[in-house]
Amino acid sequence: KLHNELQELKGNIRVYCRIRPFLPGMKEKNSTIEYIGDDGELVVVNPAKPGKEGRRLFKFNKVYGQPSTQGDVFADIQPLIQSTLDGYNVCIFAYGQTGSGKTYTMMGPNGAREEQWGVNYRALNDLFRISKSRESNFTYEISVQMVEIYNEKVRDLLNNIRDTSVLLNLHTLGILSNSQSSGLAVPDAAMFPVKSTSDVLELMDAGLKNTAKSATALNERSSRSHSIITIHVRGTDLKTGSTVMSNLHLVDLAGSERVDRSEVTGDRLKEAQHINKSLSALGDVIFALAQKNSHIPYRNSKLTQVLQSSLGGKAKTLMFVQLNPDVNSYSETVSTLKFAERVS
Ligand code: ADP
Ligand code: MG
Repeated sequence: KLHNELQELKGNIRVYCRIRPFLPGMKEKNSTIEYIGDDGELVVVNPAKPGKEGRRLFKFNKVYGQPSTQGDVFADIQPLIQSTLDGYNVCIFAYGQTGSGKTYTMMGPNGAREEQWGVNYRALNDLFRISKSRESNFTYEISVQMVEIYNEKVRDLLNNIRDTSVLLNLHTLGILSNSQSSGLAVPDAAMFPVKSTSDVLELMDAGLKNTAKSATALNERSSRSHSIITIHVRGTDLKTGSTVMSNLHLVDLAGSERVDRSEVTGDRLKEAQHINKSLSALGDVIFALAQKNSHIPYRNSKLTQVLQSSLGGKAKTLMFVQLNPDVNSYSETVSTLKFAERVS
């Protein structure tokens, strides 16, 4: 019986591994990924030990190889998005070293065309599409918050959005009043009601522009902060008048790479320590949930506090484990896979 319960709980935590392609222009294409199976198997080979002892098998719920498209990936997670409209809290996050494709999976490449859109846009698109198909029985109100966690501090990315010149029609939507947002993980962060994908595109653009002035600075900074988009859904049953509230967290985590303590000092060291601490706290929470522990250590980091409503209980959690296939990334790849193995 205990075994079944464990399986059931683990059933709410899925781990998908995605390997990004070699980037155009790279001359040497030596991959550490030797084999990808149809059932989520992955064999990694240590470039320093090409023999049998250098091989290691990992197993996840799914593995996406280099040719997988954004559409392929989304097709598999679409049921989770639908769950949000059925009242479940859902958390989807991307874990991996900087350059492994976390932002590509969640957001898409810079200036993405529609077919390159990542999980974020597709999820919202889907929420609008499904809610429209249910409109004779339900009405849904969908609103969005966007924050980053940097050095254990939560920063609202949509806070001064009315001051930015990028907005065309969002100011007509307005910000929901604070009274409506009580009971939220980040009650002070501005929350915008959205009605269409173009509202969302505009919001996310504005939020991104808020993080930093230049693209380089943005990249630099974004690899060291966790960015969290929270989508709040309130559904009302038109017949009974009863309401259901749920949320969907879409999280692009800070880069998981270990920094060499002997090489960094000051601010950089502090950042690294905060990132380390929060990623291990996240691992500990998911591990405790999978083990069905009675104490789940949510309070050990800002990240796990903010995500608490979407981790555990009947919430559904999906982790993308992102890998850079290059041999030079071998040790980071193994440490990423070990993190993922512990929680899957
Ligand atoms: P991270 O956010 O983990 O630091 P990025 O998402 O920025 O990594 O990806 C690093 C580079 O690899 C970017 O140039 C990105 O466009 C590219 N890339 C990542 N994943 C893919 C993919 N699946 N297909 C094509 N290019 C990708
Ligand atoms: Mg990134």
